[in-house]
Amino acid sequence: MKITNKIHLLKIDFSVPVTPEKSLPRFVNVLIIFGDYITLVDSGVDGSHEAIYDYIEKHGRQRSEIKKLIISHAHPDHIGSAQRIKTDTGCEVIGHANEMEWIENIDFQYKSRPVPGFYTLVNVPVKLDTIWTGGEEVSLDNDIHIQIINTPGHSKGSFSILFKEDQILFTADSLPVENDIPTYDNYKALSDSIRYIKSLQGFTTLLSSWTTPLNDQAEIQSLISKGEIYLHKLDSIIRECYAETESNPLDNCRKVITAAGLPAIFAIPLVDRAFRTHL
Ligand SMILES: [Zn+2]
Repeated sequence: MKITNKIHLLKIDFSVPVTPEKSLPRFVNVLIIFGDYITLVDSGVDGSHEAIYDYIEKHGRQRSEIKKLIISHAHPDHIGSAQRIKTDTGCEVIGHANEMEWIENIDFQYKSRPVPGFYTLVNVPVKLDTIWTGGEEVSLDNDIHIQIINTPGHSKGSFSILFKEDQILFTADSLPVENDIPTYDNYKALSDSIRYIKSLQGFTTLLSSWTTPLNDQAEIQSLISKGEIYLHKLDSIIRECYAETESNPLDNCRKVITAAGLPAIFAIPLVDRAFRTHL
């Protein structure tokens, strides 16, 4: 999907096998920036390189023109095809210092954050060539200047990207979506990042990894506010439910899911882990 002449968004569908019987359909948006060379923001899950190359070739460009791959954060749907793309194109892989450990050591990431079907989403790590810490201003083309804005909480080193000339903000997974599966790393940091994004000036279009592009200011504010209200609603339910001692693992998690009216399939260790950061 064309956002501007040079900034395109590619939606990649995949599914997370939550149990042997049930899969959760998901998607992730990858950005493809057609400058003098091509920059990718995120790589999708394992195997997404083919859809990315197809998209590039349909637009009259070559995969060999990919020179940079910016990784918004370490989660498997963002790094799944990174090593493959690096091998195919020799591109520079860029990520945040606070995400490096999980990007470069996926076994360690999986031990710390048990995403169901993790190795179906990513099966090889990638080494970062360039490490950002937030605040960087980088030129991707003569009329595409980006600013890296730290928006931690979803993960330790999550960042958003402001495309200055085009007034586009890409928030990756930094904004929670109402009633979506809670998978963040730190409730307090996430709340602070939402508040910060709300106060940001300089953008009229909002892109994220898991929402459709928004241009309407009221819709943008509504998306952000609904996510914030959802998170705060969860906070009060979690404090109440987790005050009780559980007889079996995930008992309290299940109680929160039920009380919040969320799908029962969300009661998994990954969500329990996010809930425990409220306490
Ligand atoms: Zn994520």
